[in-house]
Amino acid sequence: MEMMKAVVFRGVNDLRVEEVSKPRPKAGEAVIRITATTICGTDVHIVKGEYPVREGLILGHEPVGVIDELGEGLDDEFSIGQRVIVGAITPCGQCFYCLNAAHSQCGGALGGWRFGNTINGAWSEYLLVPHARANLAAVPEALTDEQVLMLPDIASTGISGAESGNIRIGDSVAVFAQGPIGLCATLGARLRGASAIVGVDPVAERRAMSQRFGASMTLDPTSEDVVKRLKELTGGRGVDVAIEALGRQETFESALRSIRPGGVLSSLGVYSGKLVAPYEAIYAGLADQRIVTTLCPGGKDRMRRLMAMVSDHRMDLTPLITHRFALDDIEDAYDLFSRQGDGVLKVALFPAAAPTRTRGLQNGETLSHMAF
Ligand SMILES: [Zn+2]
Ligand SMILES: [Zn+2]
Repeated sequence: MEMMKAVVFRGVNDLRVEEVSKPRPKAGEAVIRITATTICGTDVHIVKGEYPVREGLILGHEPVGVIDELGEGLDDEFSIGQRVIVGAITPCGQCFYCLNAAHSQCGGALGGWRFGNTINGAWSEYLLVPHARANLAAVPEALTDEQVLMLPDIASTGISGAESGNIRIGDSVAVFAQGPIGLCATLGARLRGASAIVGVDPVAERRAMSQRFGASMTLDPTSEDVVKRLKELTGGRGVDVAIEALGRQETFESALRSIRPGGVLSSLGVYSGKLVAPYEAIYAGLADQRIVTTLCPGGKDRMRRLMAMVSDHRMDLTPLITHRFALDDIEDAYDLFSRQGDGVLKVALFPAAAPTRTRGLQNGETLSHMAF
C-alpha cells in the first residue's frame, strides 16, 4: 500500500504529522496531489474542540493541486497532470438540495462541506475528491498556486456575503470584521457596485487592508459608536446592507442595528450558543428587513468564475497570504495563525516543501530552507 504524509486530528489541541495510506479513487472520484493549501478559522474551531469532528480525520478544506489519479468515467473531461482547485464545498449536483439550488447544503444541513469535516481533507500530500466531475476546476495556465489559493473558501465565502445581500449599484454597505473573510466581503461589495463601503474592525492593520480591498472608509468599534456613525452617514436611515463576518453576538447585533428599514443583514459568521435579536433592533419584527445566511458556495463552476475574476485582473487575493510554511511545520503555522501573531492574515502550506526545523527530519535528510 502506498503511503503519504498528512496532518491528522488526534483530539483537542492535538495535531500530528503522520504517515497514512494514500487514497485510491473509485468511479467518479479523483485523487489530486496537493501543491498548496491553507488554514481556515474554522480549522481552529475544530482543533480547539469547538466544532466536533472524528478523531483520526485529516483536516483542511482549501485544496490546490494536480490530478494524480482518476476513477472510472472522468477521462473525457480531465487528465492526469492537470492543475486544479476544488471548492471547500463539494456538492454532488444531483440530490434534493443541489437540485433546489442549495448546493452547499448537499444531502442535508452543511452537507456540502465534506473535506476536513466528514471526509479526509487537504492537509496532506494527496486528497480524494468526491463527485469529481462537479468539483474539479481546471486552473488557467497563467495563474500561480498562490493566486488561486484563497478561492476554494475565503474568496467564495466572503464574496457570497455581498451576493446574498443582493447589493445594488449605489448601495451603502457596512462590513463587520475585516479578517480574511470580511476583507473578501468588502471586495465583493465593491465588485457588486456599492458606493459607500465601511469596513469595521478594531485592528489598525486590518482597517488599512480594508481600504486596499475596496472600503471607502473604515471605523474602529473600540473608539466610536459604529451604529450611530453609520446612521449619520446615511441621512439617519441606516445602511442598505450590513455583512457580518465574525460570528459574535456583538457584531450581529451591531449589523442588525445598522441596517435601514427594508435593508438586509447578510451573515457569514459561524455562531455558537444563542443568538439574540433585540426587539427594538428589528423594529419589533415589522420593518421589512431580511436576515440571510450563507455557507461558502462550491462546485467547479463557482471556482471557474472566481478564477476568471483573477485572470481578468478584477481581483487579487495574494495580499492575504502573509506567511508560508512547509506542511511538516504545521505546528508552527497553526500556532501563528491561531494566536493571530505577527500580523498574520492567511498562511500558505506547501506539502512538498522541506521543513525549516530539524524536528521531523529522517533518513539522512538535511535541513534546507524553503525557497519561497
Ligand atoms: Zn474555511
Ligand atoms: Zn447534492
